[in-house]
Amino acid sequence: MIDRDLLARDARHVWHPYSRATAPPPLPVVRASGAYLHTPDGRAVLDAISSWWVTLHGHGHPAIAAAVAAQAAALEQVIFAGCTHEPAVRLAERLTSLAPAGLDRVFYSDDGSTAVEVALKIALQYWRIAGQDRDIIIAMEHAYHGDTVGAMSVSARGVFTAPFGAMMFDVARIPEPSSGDSLAALDALLDRDGGRCAALILEPMLLGAGGMRMYDAATLARIAHRATDAGVLVIADEVLTGFGRTGPLFACEHADVTPDLLCLSKGLTGGFLPLGATLLTSRIASTFDGRSPFGTLYHGHSYTANPIACAAALASLDLLDEACAERRDTIADAHRRGLATIRADSRVRAPRAIGTVAAFDLAGEVGYLSDAAAGLAAFALDRGVLVRPLGNVVYVLPPYCITDGELAHIYGVIAEWLDSA
Ligand code: PMP
Repeated sequence: MIDRDLLARDARHVWHPYSRATAPPPLPVVRASGAYLHTPDGRAVLDAISSWWVTLHGHGHPAIAAAVAAQAAALEQVIFAGCTHEPAVRLAERLTSLAPAGLDRVFYSDDGSTAVEVALKIALQYWRIAGQDRDIIIAMEHAYHGDTVGAMSVSARGVFTAPFGAMMFDVARIPEPSSGDSLAALDALLDRDGGRCAALILEPMLLGAGGMRMYDAATLARIAHRATDAGVLVIADEVLTGFGRTGPLFACEHADVTPDLLCLSKGLTGGFLPLGATLLTSRIASTFDGRSPFGTLYHGHSYTANPIACAAALASLDLLDEACAERRDTIADAHRRGLATIRADSRVRAPRAIGTVAAFDLAGEVGYLSDAAAGLAAFALDRGVLVRPLGNVVYVLPPYCITDGELAHIYGVIAEWLDSA
């Protein structure tokens, strides 16, 4: 039975993300476990998108749930300006030991967007302290870095950002590698304006919300090295790709790249609680000292380094062991098999996968407002699968606990929809 009362109350008072204030009714969920969401009418729905790419190991993992409960009972929250606590320090130690060598400091924030804002602000202020007039940020076309103003500014301009032109800053754009010559554009830009460029922000290997666009490690390495050679700071936004999504723990590892700043969120807490982290080198951190009038980073959020979120993150990192890496390999294999089953369909374009993320485009109108996948989400939900195409881009991005059988079911439902459409 559909919980009509909940839906009516929801419609009266709640406004959901990425929706009109008056939108079709959402899916009520009462409980979640492993790869499944459970609805009030007793249905189990396979979460093929890790609840917006956050649920890492599976919903309700008992080890993370226990860590959250224990931390809530001990220290639920304390101001992080002037105070500290064990979970935040231990998490910083763990993250800096796991991340590419040289990223030694952690600045905590609330989510992916704020992790990006912090990286941008640190980069700009770093050059201010250094007394250099570098204020241009380089970003990729089709990038998505979040919905706050700085993160929007470095994201692709389009339907998401169109009403906010007046509040965004200009950035220098280069094509993303799968659809243009990013290196040539970067070279031209650096030749012209290199001395004024502060930072290059990129999503390593995989541009997520911009259409699950994938590119190769050699290109990533070349882009990062060109920027570094020109003295430009490299900001890697691994909000989506972090914690094994593309195979290795961080996507930068594919290319042996150590960025100057690394943005993390989403899977950081295993998908239990919001938390952002911006990792940076001690070279950058050490410039923020008392010698410069700009030596203080005036940035902080009420819930910075919330102890419960940090405890969840520590428990999640404990689960990223060898067995988890093997599971991710198994998922990658299952994606290859799944994509092979739909590859021949005349509407399927550019089937692709990297690690635990698979995607393909649908023929027809391109972009977020495309209706090429219209009906797929409802069709899949009727068959117990939650998907959320990005316009004409269909993707599968499951939690690591998903089984081969469950993945085969997801691809089966997609194939059935392709056949029926
Ligand atoms: N960066 C990337 C690469 C993302 O995919 C996202 C979210 N989809 C963000 C930043 C923003 O994260 P949040 O939604 O947690 O603010």
